[in-house]
Amino acid sequence: MREPLIYLDHNATTPVRPEVLEAMLPYLREEFGNPNSVYWLGQRARKAVEEARAQVAALVGAAQETEVIFTSCGSESDVMAISGAAWAVWDSSRGKRRRILSSPIEHEAVRGILKVLEKRGFGVDLVGVDSEGLVDPAEVAGRLTPETALVSIMHANNEVGSVEPIEEIAALCRERGVVFHTDAVQSAGKLPLDAQKMGLDLLSLSGHKLGAPKGVGALYARRGARLAQTITGHQEKNRRGGTENVAGIVAFGKACELARRELGSPRVLALRRKLEEGVLRIPGSRLNGHPAKRLPHCAHFSFQGLDGHHLVVALDLEGICVSSGPACSSGSATPSHVLTAMGVDPSLATGSIRVSLGPSNSEADLDRFLEVLPKAVDKLRQVPLASLRESPGA
Ligand code: PLP
Repeated sequence: MREPLIYLDHNATTPVRPEVLEAMLPYLREEFGNPNSVYWLGQRARKAVEEARAQVAALVGAAQETEVIFTSCGSESDVMAISGAAWAVWDSSRGKRRRILSSPIEHEAVRGILKVLEKRGFGVDLVGVDSEGLVDPAEVAGRLTPETALVSIMHANNEVGSVEPIEEIAALCRERGVVFHTDAVQSAGKLPLDAQKMGLDLLSLSGHKLGAPKGVGALYARRGARLAQTITGHQEKNRRGGTENVAGIVAFGKACELARRELGSPRVLALRRKLEEGVLRIPGSRLNGHPAKRLPHCAHFSFQGLDGHHLVVALDLEGICVSSGPACSSGSATPSHVLTAMGVDPSLATGSIRVSLGPSNSEADLDRFLEVLPKAVDKLRQVPLASLRESPGA
């Protein structure tokens, strides 16, 4: 396998940080106990899980460590929050509160469970976003009804990085007795989070987006938030069944501790400035998402007259990893649901790439990227789009 030379796709996943790997290794070797066993081997694993819980709780500003429930990934946390809260409210309101309010730019994990719940009798309403990908809290206020059970609006969008006004939305929900969930998979460790101060009920996290391995996530559930079980069993204080992924959880805790320490570091923001200045010199290019209310480490660009998927392949041939997101999966050139909701013209939306930086990226990575990109864009613009889309394997 060819090693990627320059990895600029940290919104897709991140490399496991060396300190994180060190922290988790003993739990894959000699400390293999089940944290639910009463003997010492098990109790040492339990202690490690609880220490990690405290580290995750600190990153999100939980009032109590027990408000953190470990899951297998961000998707599971989204499903556990939305399905768990929706059914709990349905039950307690005897089916009167049966509407869920969300946005059209949510991750597939949220969109998927909303479709399932819709088939099972819930009504799903979507508030729009503006051309910069932002939800308007006033529209949320106007769409809340006595039937609303739950609102789920992501903290930061995984494609364009726009940061939603979740504090205001949470306050509106609290006033009306509506449960509020936010998907913070992309923002955790990048933006300050304070679940108590922000008035959040439920918040989803994923380990592999912040330097831990894949296969671990967490749900913050404010004390007293009721959740119908999605995976039955007695672990996680009867909230999620399944023997805990001890090594993954230890890794996640360590990654949260590191992220908390580095929060607000100007380094990545300075790199992104350089990236944007360089890319936007290319004629026919533009930046998508909100110019300021945006994740500090990522930028999403559109280029006139090309297909983002082809650009990703061209950059890959030069050893550079970026993503076209779901914008053009397998060369199908279908615009992403996020850009569509933002009203980006389809001909521009299909020519999009997302660049997301991480702690290991350097100025030299960007110099190389900015040297390769304009040439790749130029080259692709010289080939008629239709001919590329029709070619085998395009
Ligand atoms: N939510 C958002 C915003 C994401 O970007 C992702 C992953 O890309 C997920 C949820 C799902 O996380 P996981 O890959 O851990 O299931």
